Amino acid sequence: MTGLSDSFQRPINYLRISVTDRCNLRCIYCMPADGVDLRSHSDILSYEEIYTIARAAAELGINKIRITGGEPLIRLGLPQLIRMLASIEAIEDIALTTNGVLLADYAGELKQAGLKRVNISLDTLNPDRFKRITRGESELKQVFEGIEVASRVGLEPVKLNMVVMSGINDDELLDFAAKTIDEEWHVRFIELMPVAGNGDNAPRFISATEMRKRLEPLGELEPCLPGVGNGPAKYFRLAKAKGTIGFITPVSEHFCFNCNRMRLTADGKLRPCLLSEYEIDLKQPLRDGVSKAGLKKLFKQAVAEKPLQHGLAEGQVPNGRPFSHVGG
Ligand code: SAM
Ligand code: SF4
Repeated sequence: MTGLSDSFQRPINYLRISVTDRCNLRCIYCMPADGVDLRSHSDILSYEEIYTIARAAAELGINKIRITGGEPLIRLGLPQLIRMLASIEAIEDIALTTNGVLLADYAGELKQAGLKRVNISLDTLNPDRFKRITRGESELKQVFEGIEVASRVGLEPVKLNMVVMSGINDDELLDFAAKTIDEEWHVRFIELMPVAGNGDNAPRFISATEMRKRLEPLGELEPCLPGVGNGPAKYFRLAKAKGTIGFITPVSEHFCFNCNRMRLTADGKLRPCLLSEYEIDLKQPLRDGVSKAGLKKLFKQAVAEKPLQHGLAEGQVPNGRPFSHVGG
């Protein structure tokens, strides 16, 4: 059956699944330096439980899934989950969002399991700065290897997400954009959002309008279509460029009117909006033996609670769970 929609008649066909709240990095825009509270192993959904939820969701009309986290590649056996999800007939597209550090090791296996494509977070082209932004032991060259292997095995298009921060990496906007000329890079510049428990991101905020101004020396940005995936970015291309440049504007120009997504947190809460605290628990009902019909009813109930829009532009700051819990 197809045709799930929320109370504002937005079609809902996309489920983002966070498979872990853990991460091998501590990006300055996402987490506090000492990390965030973590759920215990038994609080995290098993792959079987995720599969059961995805099957019920697919029967309601979900046909796109994105795996996220935390860092999804640190959860053991992820290709096995991809295989299970890919076996659900109605699911047409399975994508992954990753920091790329472990991607070179898993890209081939993930592709074989049925993963279609990846988005990789890449906030700098400078190895020292990478260490400062991610506060970890990982190396930028691991991410570059991940990008290379992902392209080689056909996890395409590879999209690169850069969270642009004033005084941190905004001086690299031109370098990232210029890369799209000769290489098939699909770079998306993301406006920095406020994050629960991570101090004040506001002083580092740069709007997409300002980013575009900074790119003027490279020439005109021609609007273009996204290729694969119909996410929230607006896409452009520099003259004769092989790749594209996208802008994601959660703060300056929200895209809620087009929102087609639900989120499943690693601990089994169904969340209609990244920035609203409303959640419905699916884990306990599952563990209590809820029927598929019961699960679908809970899913629909959460969809019906999807808010019209978030209030970031009005200064609303999420004060509940960090993005690494919810699957940013
Ligand atoms: N660990 C994976 C990664 O980094 O790609 C997946 C999880 S991460 C929470 C998902 C996305 O959220 C990443 O693209 C990251 O850049 C973005 N993100 C995290 N904190 C953000 C913030 N404060 N503002 C904007 N985007 C943010
Ligand atoms: Fe980890 Fe991704 Fe958050 Fe960075 S953005 S700390 S990689 S979850």
